[in-house]
Order: sequence, then structure tokens, then C-alpha cells
Amino acid sequence: MSPLILDGKSLAGSIEASLKPRVEAIVKKTGAAPILATILVGSDPSSATYVKMKGNACSRVGMQSKKVELPDSASTQQLLNAIDGLNADTNVHGILLQHPVPKQIDERQCFDRIALAKDVDGVTCLGFGRMAMGEPAYGSATPAGIMAMLEHYKIPLAGKHAVVVGRSPILGKPMALMLLNKHATVTICHSKTQDLPAIVGTADIVVGAVGRPEFIKADWIKQGAVIVDAGYHLGGVGDVDLKNAAARASAYTPVPGGVGPMTIATLMRHCVEAAEKACDIRQ
Ligand code: NAP
Repeated sequence: MSPLILDGKSLAGSIEASLKPRVEAIVKKTGAAPILATILVGSDPSSATYVKMKGNACSRVGMQSKKVELPDSASTQQLLNAIDGLNADTNVHGILLQHPVPKQIDERQCFDRIALAKDVDGVTCLGFGRMAMGEPAYGSATPAGIMAMLEHYKIPLAGKHAVVVGRSPILGKPMALMLLNKHATVTICHSKTQDLPAIVGTADIVVGAVGRPEFIKADWIKQGAVIVDAGYHLGGVGDVDLKNAAARASAYTPVPGGVGPMTIATLMRHCVEAAEKACDIRQ
């Protein structure tokens, strides 16, 4: 049987469409569109593209974006000051600090300065901890988008063995906790993991979050596994060798058009939720 394609692009399109009337309701109640503030530090072209894509998504759903740009030479204190300003601005409902920031900046300190109510990208320790404990919080946008996609396509998680390859604070770690919260049995792999192919070979669900093109090989994948590929690299490939692995899977996220669009749609959804909370609209 041919594998089910977990079409993130089309699902993201329907999520965005469902956000438009919610944004209109906020505008009707408050007279102003919700605002996502994006902070870009430095001149990394990929980061600039990601920030632009998020700004475009705001326009598509009727929100506004407020762009804050700091130079490559910015200090931690300058970035903290910018975040303080956005925390205090009642017109701003969500804050996105584009990762990574230049090396001289203490990124963790800056992430943690974002007010919990505006942490729509789920990057604060407090937000992470609350998510991990099953308390209300905006989960990190990429894994939260993946969970929304798995739920939409009714991929069974309870009791399944999920192997997450990667343990970054914005992707691998929160992904593992979100899967655990849905009762998967979770193994987290990283650069010191021994015999990765054998571990991946036991997975019912494999999440590629490594950041290396086509690193996870087709012959590691168990027949019938679900493949979630969070990677995106030049040439339009992900972290999994999908060209060869897809045929072994029961379902997979394509690259592009899988995880990427869901990340952006999830960020928009979180920002709309934050704006609804700020003006006391309940869904
Ligand atoms: P990252 O911060 O570089 O983390 C990579 C992780 O992979 C680390 O935990 C690292 O382990 C692990 N790793 C590296 N080499 C390994 C190896 N040989 N065996 C096993 N694990 C290994 O990357 P990230 O920010 O999480 O991103 C991962 C991927 O997702 C990238 O392709 C990125 O482009 C993509 N991404 C996509 C979106 C989206 O919206 N679509 C968003 C974010 C990221 P250690 O911890 O031991 O170093």
C-alpha cells in the first residue's frame, strides 16, 4: 500500500483560513489587529528569510507584524532591552526571537526574558516546563505543529515507540515531551548515541531533527513506520533520506510541504490565541 502523505502545506492552509475570522473578531472588539513582533539579530540570510515568511503569514491571516532588527554586533543587554520594550507594549501579543543569535549573545537569557503570555514560539524555560507538566503553555512551534499534524491524520501515538533524533531546546526535547504526554514510549537520540541505526529500526514513529541532510537512512527505518522529517536543507531535502525511505513508511511528512508550513501556521495560531486572551475572547 502506498504511504499516507502527511500534507502539512494543505493543513497549514486550512489552519490559516480558520484563523482569519478569529482575527476579524479581535479587530471588531479592540479596533486593532493582533501583532506578532519578530526580532532578527544580525544578517544571516536564512534567518532573514524565516522572519520574512512569518511576516507574510501574519498578513495572510489579517495580523500585523512588527519587525525589530538589531546589528550583528548587538549585545545581550541591547537584545534584553528590545524584549523588555515588546513585553511592555500592550499592542504586541506575541514575540518571536529568531534563533540562532550571534555568538556573543546569551540566547537562553534572552529567550527567558520573553513574557510567558507572549511566548508564542514556546522558547522560555517556564513555557517548556509548563508544557512538559501538561499545564497550559504555547509549546515550541515546530513540535507543536508536528503534533497537530499527527492528530489531524489520526496517527496512533499511545503505546507506540517514538524515536526522536535530536535534542535541541526548540525541537528535539519539546518534541519528545509532547509525544510522551500523548503516551508514546519515547527514546531521544543525539550525537553521543550508540548504534543509532538499530534504535531507529525499533521505532514506530521516527522524528528526524538532526540538522544534517538525509542523515537518517532508508534501511534504518522499520517497515510501516511513520516518518516525520523536520529538517530542511539546500536542494529541498530533509534529515531523512525520504527518496528511498518513503516506500517503507506507512506515513511520512514530505520535504518541502510537511513540517515547515505547520511551524508557521502554529505560530500564527498561538499568536491569535494570545491576542484572544489579552482581550478576553474565549474559543
Ligand atoms: P540543532 O540545534 O543543530 O540540533 C541538532 C541535534 O541533532 C542535536 O541535539 C545533536 O546532538 C543531534 N545530532 C547531531 N549529530 C548527530 C548524530 N550524528 N547522531 C545523532 N544525533 C545527532 O538543530 P535544530 O535547531 O533542532 O534543527 C534540526 C533540524 O530541524 C534542522 O534540519 C533544521 O533546519 C530543522 N528545523 C526546521 C524547522 C521548521 O520549521 N521546519 C524549525 C527548526 C528546525 P547533540 O545535542 O548531542 O549535539
